[in-house]
Amino acid sequence: MSVKAEPLTPQALWEKCLHVLRENVGTATVTVLFQAVQPLSIKEDVFTIRVPSQFFYEYIEEHFSRLIVQTLRRHLGPKARLEYEVLTTLDVPTNLPSQTGPSPTILPGLRPRQSLPTNLNPKYTFDNFIPGTCNQLARSAGMTVAQRPGQTAFNPLFIYGEVGQGKTHLAHAIGNYARLLHPDKIITYLDADRFTQHYVDAVRSKQISTFLSRFENVDIFILDDIQFLIGRESTQDIFFHVFKSLHEAGRQLVITADAPPQELRGLAERITSRFSWGLAAQLLPPDYETRLQILQYKTRQEGLDIPENLLQYIAEHIQSHVRDLEGVLIQLMAEASINRREINLALAQEVIQRFQPYRSRAVTIEQIIQATSDYFRIHPEELRGKSRRKEIAYARHIAIYLSRKHTHHALKAIGERFGGRDHSTILHSLEWVESYLHTNRDLQKHVQELERILFKGA
Ligand code: ADP
Ligand code: MG
Repeated sequence: MSVKAEPLTPQALWEKCLHVLRENVGTATVTVLFQAVQPLSIKEDVFTIRVPSQFFYEYIEEHFSRLIVQTLRRHLGPKARLEYEVLTTLDVPTNLPSQTGPSPTILPGLRPRQSLPTNLNPKYTFDNFIPGTCNQLARSAGMTVAQRPGQTAFNPLFIYGEVGQGKTHLAHAIGNYARLLHPDKIITYLDADRFTQHYVDAVRSKQISTFLSRFENVDIFILDDIQFLIGRESTQDIFFHVFKSLHEAGRQLVITADAPPQELRGLAERITSRFSWGLAAQLLPPDYETRLQILQYKTRQEGLDIPENLLQYIAEHIQSHVRDLEGVLIQLMAEASINRREINLALAQEVIQRFQPYRSRAVTIEQIIQATSDYFRIHPEELRGKSRRKEIAYARHIAIYLSRKHTHHALKAIGERFGGRDHSTILHSLEWVESYLHTNRDLQKHVQELERILFKGA
């Protein structure tokens, strides 16, 4: 593939992206979602698009940015990045970087720096983190450590909860608030994958001591999703070292995970036992009141006009994560602004249906395992077993995803039915499916056909 063979116009490059999106996501979705997006400029490696609102930005970033960036890299070279200009309600453009791809400032050898960049995402703050009984302790402890980093008993502050409950939001909010209050303090946010990647790069370039020295001056270190260190022994070692020296120096540590410390099997005991020195606070699924307030807040933010009783209706019917509440709003907005439909109860019902088409029918994990193995013509025991053969692992990912989506079992219980897998393995499958579902047509087809089989006649 030739890189930078001839200069591309933003429009032509965007057409190429749309083409790939259509191939992967389907023409209808692309037409509805992307007609409001405008390609703006190509400056060296950076392609900037204008999106009509913060919602669009978040939605595209979450679901489509990987695919877009892949296309950009094909045409602009391996360092290509996507940036957004968001038209706010005041029509003042705000530039936001895409989170996909490496952050070149920290890669060793490129531009040597004394400490680490903050990596904080300004869109996640306490102002837009709606309080509720579901997050009371975590939220107030978070504010406290931002106010008095390293000076309270909440060190480390350990925040845990299932996917989509606001851990990442809260982690950034703590960092952003601390930065506002203490502009002189050095604050660094990393998720465990990024941490691992930096460490691996450091090992490769024989720069471990540079890697470690970057943490020396950090006053507040936030590590998101520590469960991703499971199975990475040497990264755990180095993390332990960083953790210990920062803690001894009285610096603030904030850690998030998808489970409480004692359930993080596979993380070294010497690490998890130290989490109990501070405070472990749980983020629970949002209760009705909080769901309603989140909807009210987001509609106000977007300048949407949605009657109160409709918001109540949505809050009653979407009980899973905040992410789905946002999904319903963006689809309502797309239907109203692009397809010119009136936002009323009928439309709300239709959109909610898309998020939970089969809620009323009960199905068991055993039925899911049976149906999935029939569908892929493999034996149920293979699905439960240890085989890493590609077809089997693929079918297993899907069966686990369906079990989570259509039964009320916790990750741990699902793991037990799938041959005694631990919850982080289950989480990995869920994330695998979720990250490809929006962009991989085959996967979409397999999941939908299986759902049709499982719920036929519903
Ligand atoms: P997690 O990291 O736990 O998977 P995220 O922090 O990514 O979850 O949250 C998922 C989405 O829900 C984000 O868009 C986040 O802003 C939103 N969200 C979660 N909790 C709240 C809350 N209490 N108020 C407002 N938005 C929230
Ligand atoms: Mg997260």
